[in-house]
Amino acid sequence: MRKINKVIIHCSATKEGVNYTEKDIRKWHTTPKAQGGNGWKDIGYHFIVLLDGSVEVGRPIEQIGAHCAGHNTDSIGICYIGGLDTNSKPKDTRTEGQKDGIEDTLKNLIEKYPSIQEIKGHRDYSPDLNGNGIIESFEWLKACPCFDAEPEYKRLLKNKR
Ligand SMILES: [Zn+2]
Repeated sequence: MRKINKVIIHCSATKEGVNYTEKDIRKWHTTPKAQGGNGWKDIGYHFIVLLDGSVEVGRPIEQIGAHCAGHNTDSIGICYIGGLDTNSKPKDTRTEGQKDGIEDTLKNLIEKYPSIQEIKGHRDYSPDLNGNGIIESFEWLKACPCFDAEPEYKRLLKNKR
């Protein structure tokens, strides 16, 4: 098993209320580039959290994902469906079910992989352009996951031995 140091939260960048599944994302990620997909060998994320809060398994955890450039080797990627409002603007569209689904998944992972030190959102791995040690909103490469994951999930790591 590879060493897991962090969990990275993503959104599917799809409009709120539209219930895509693991199967849809797998198709977007594995469709050849010439046909508009990413052309990858497998879905990029390890877990997908649907609108109703149910959690689907994507790429097996043992395998390195494809979801955050430079941070894939030691991380697990969780993606909730949504992240855009009806005008395609970034928005925290998580349903109550999705909040529970993400949190339950995180708790299970932290218990299973005590080496996890960090839970952040995709945007938190953008480059620190002005070098002040804080990734500010103007530095975000993308808005994903459209909410501030680090402060929200910090408490889960505090309970660690
Ligand atoms: Zn992302």
